[in-house]
Amino acid sequence: MSDPRNTYTSLIAAIKEISLLASAGSVLHWDEETHMPPKGAEHRGDQVSLIARLTHEQFTSPKIGQMLAEIEQSDLVKDREGDVATNVRELRRTYDRATKLPASLVEEMSKTAVMAHHAWIDARKKSDYATFKPHLAKTLYLKHQEANCIDPHKPIYDVMLDEYEPAETTANLNRVFQSLREPLVDLVGKIASSSKKAPVQILEQKYPAAAQEALAIEASKQIGFDYDAGRLDISVHPFCTDLGPHDIRMTTRYDESYFGDAFFGVLHESGHALYEQGLPHEHWGTPLGSAISLGIHESQSRMWENLVGRSRAFWEFFYPKTQEVFAHQLADVTLEQWHFAINDVRPSFIRTESDEATYNLHILLRFEMEQAMLSGEVSVDDVPAAWNEKMKNYFGLTPPDDAKGCLQDVHWSHGSIGYFPTYTLGNLYAAQFFDQARKDVPDLERSFTRGNFKPLLDWLRDRIHRHGKRYTATELVKRVTGRKLSAEPLLDHLRRNARDLYDVS
Ligand code: ZN
Repeated sequence: MSDPRNTYTSLIAAIKEISLLASAGSVLHWDEETHMPPKGAEHRGDQVSLIARLTHEQFTSPKIGQMLAEIEQSDLVKDREGDVATNVRELRRTYDRATKLPASLVEEMSKTAVMAHHAWIDARKKSDYATFKPHLAKTLYLKHQEANCIDPHKPIYDVMLDEYEPAETTANLNRVFQSLREPLVDLVGKIASSSKKAPVQILEQKYPAAAQEALAIEASKQIGFDYDAGRLDISVHPFCTDLGPHDIRMTTRYDESYFGDAFFGVLHESGHALYEQGLPHEHWGTPLGSAISLGIHESQSRMWENLVGRSRAFWEFFYPKTQEVFAHQLADVTLEQWHFAINDVRPSFIRTESDEATYNLHILLRFEMEQAMLSGEVSVDDVPAAWNEKMKNYFGLTPPDDAKGCLQDVHWSHGSIGYFPTYTLGNLYAAQFFDQARKDVPDLERSFTRGNFKPLLDWLRDRIHRHGKRYTATELVKRVTGRKLSAEPLLDHLRRNARDLYDVS
């Protein structure tokens, strides 16, 4: 019998090598989204799928399973929160998910996703749900097969969630989301009928892209993004990707007739990037050097975008600079008007264009739809009607067509079911963490007014970033804030804004 310590060393070496190969794939993907000419697409597709196949083969090899089993039976994993136990626990979870699916099912799922995605593009363009319907039906059928292979004893939606939000349960989400739903519908309704309206026309002027970019870069530097260990580029769909321990890439896009999407988009991606830059580099490529979950990742981006980036304190520092850059556009605009404009709340059809408050209602709707579609409570025939009914209940709006309704998001066409809740989890975690940071760090927001964001970043590094995947999201929130996830901190934050800006109590 070999020494389990040697086995662990070999396991980590193998995993780091797989991550190294996968990160070469990330470089190719980043280039594809930012710089690659259209005619490079076919060859790039071959490159990316070769790397995906090689990493999958290496990771699912029986050798990895044998090493995991040997270490699991040893004393090395005794300390549940120790380095070895953390890496082994998380590698076991992903190894099991990857090996339990038969190759034939994986192949059918990826073929279905390609076809469904093409059909969805077409369906959305024509606003014709019938074009997408058979593909959605096939996707849901395959999701049942998938869940059955991974864990037939768990509720199906728990298995779906586990891919994006490890250890999260449908029951826990229902608990938190239910306590968010009614108060939020009520608050959004009151805001919509308030006589005060945000002066959004301030944002709807000409804002040249180069100046927007310079300002966004300045803001991201100010909050702590290290441009010697990262870049900002342009892509159609903004994202942030980790190419290695000292190389984090962010992207954005500029709309010259609107200030907002790019600036807050860059703060958002900076939040993701600061998390990546704060993970322990010595553990790069292993679970200890990786983000906990999509929800925790999103909590970092939403915190910098919304709780910091839309705060009065942030703009007390940053508005004079903004006014200097856009002297003509903002000559007669006060800080108060600016702050109100960037915190506009109004019910709308499209999730990706919605504000900080109504965004969560878009997510609750999808979370409920996904469960109902998987259980058969809503048949694929009834998806548009069920969607529209929820829109009416939550927003008081009826989509004019399915392109502005159930066809608007790409996720289901990729087979991503269980992904949406991570966005609202991100908002909830962000508010609860921020609430705690305020208690732990004296004068936190006063430091923002002086352009000093280091106290918050240091707090995030210490409480969240440096732990990698040591704790699950549920454990982390209890450790950091002393209680389980609650809807109250987010509701408090949204109510404060509603009171200050819309006179809504
Ligand atoms: Zn994000």
